[in-house]
Amino acid sequence: MDLLMKLKGIAERHTRMKALGVDAIGVTNERILSPTRAIIDGRETILAGTNNYMGITFDAECIAAGKKALDEFGTGTTGSRIANGSFALHADLENEFAAFLARRHCIVFTTGYQANLGMMSGLAGPRDTIYLDADSHSSIYDGCTLSGAKLVRFRHNDAADLDKRLSRGEQDEGGGKLVVLEGIYSMLGDRAPLADFIEVKKKHGFQLLVDEAHSFGVLGPNGRGLADEAGLEREVDFIVGTFSKSVGAIGGFGAGDHPYFEYLRYAMRPYMFTASSSPASVATSLAAIRKLAAEPQRRTRLMENSARLFHGFKALGLDLGCDVVSPVVAVRCPDEPTTIAMWDALLKAGVYVNIALPPGTPNKLCLLRCSVSAAHSEAEIDRVIELFGAVVAEGHGKKVVNG
Ligand code: PMP
Repeated sequence: MDLLMKLKGIAERHTRMKALGVDAIGVTNERILSPTRAIIDGRETILAGTNNYMGITFDAECIAAGKKALDEFGTGTTGSRIANGSFALHADLENEFAAFLARRHCIVFTTGYQANLGMMSGLAGPRDTIYLDADSHSSIYDGCTLSGAKLVRFRHNDAADLDKRLSRGEQDEGGGKLVVLEGIYSMLGDRAPLADFIEVKKKHGFQLLVDEAHSFGVLGPNGRGLADEAGLEREVDFIVGTFSKSVGAIGGFGAGDHPYFEYLRYAMRPYMFTASSSPASVATSLAAIRKLAAEPQRRTRLMENSARLFHGFKALGLDLGCDVVSPVVAVRCPDEPTTIAMWDALLKAGVYVNIALPPGTPNKLCLLRCSVSAAHSEAEIDRVIELFGAVVAEGHGKKVVNG
């Protein structure tokens, strides 16, 4: 049996797309001009699918901090913190970041994906049960698999469904219970109804982890995410997040107040058995977090831009992923060929968005997913709206319009 034959379906799908002149996975940014502009296929293109929420990737102070770290600490750490020890920079980032998050402890990971793998597998083991929102990110599912814990999925954003499953004692063999939610869901842009879940928590007494990957830096009076916005941080036991979105670098974090939290470092394989973040990434992340703390106007600007895109799309009659203003604005498309044709037409017209197709989407949806940046100008947002309008009007996506 040829092991790679299980990739036949993927290969055929890729060939079909290429035959249409579309290579959604092969898009190359030949040059990056700014947080919102790049040269793709020789054309200047507006970037509306980067998750660069704060538009911080070209910030002069962040770049200077990265360069300084390269000069002082070199290009890489060449090993894990357990094997090679830490650089002073790692501890600086963890201490300052814990203070920013108003948490006692913070552990930094090499990526956000590893943060979820590490935290889930460190917190839960084979005797425990993890309750996951059905729309959870793949890194959460993978973390659950790594943990060996029993898995219970509840309906997306449905606290009553979680309550029902806990009351029934599904998969409960007397171990610990971990419930995992996301601040902003990455595909549709909707938020977890945190207060409803906290009511269920009071009733059943589980521990709660919120992945704030898309909401950290974005939501809340302090930019700490959904729990900060909802005024419910003390009810959330653990948060996870990434430095690859609003922080504009790479890396991830887990944070909490539990007195044993630090010992997770010796229980998380995705922390123990991989090289630690490079000096430039750590220094850039720290500089960016200082910027986010000092410049709350970036969040205001992001929300203004998000509202502009949301209402512009609504006026076009597009069918959107969620009904509240969010920096993730997803357009629901009727089928795969229409989505591919629209995505391609948009790119050729000068706007890059994410194409999201099953199985990577909730409920097998076909989506054109936009993410908004504080760095987008109003003119850029208007151009994105105009181009979506033109593509729909040209007939590429007639069925995308509501009604
Ligand atoms: N959690 C969520 C909800 C995400 O959307 C992502 C990435 N898109 C991650 C975790 C992983 O983060 P990273 O890309 O930094 O590894």
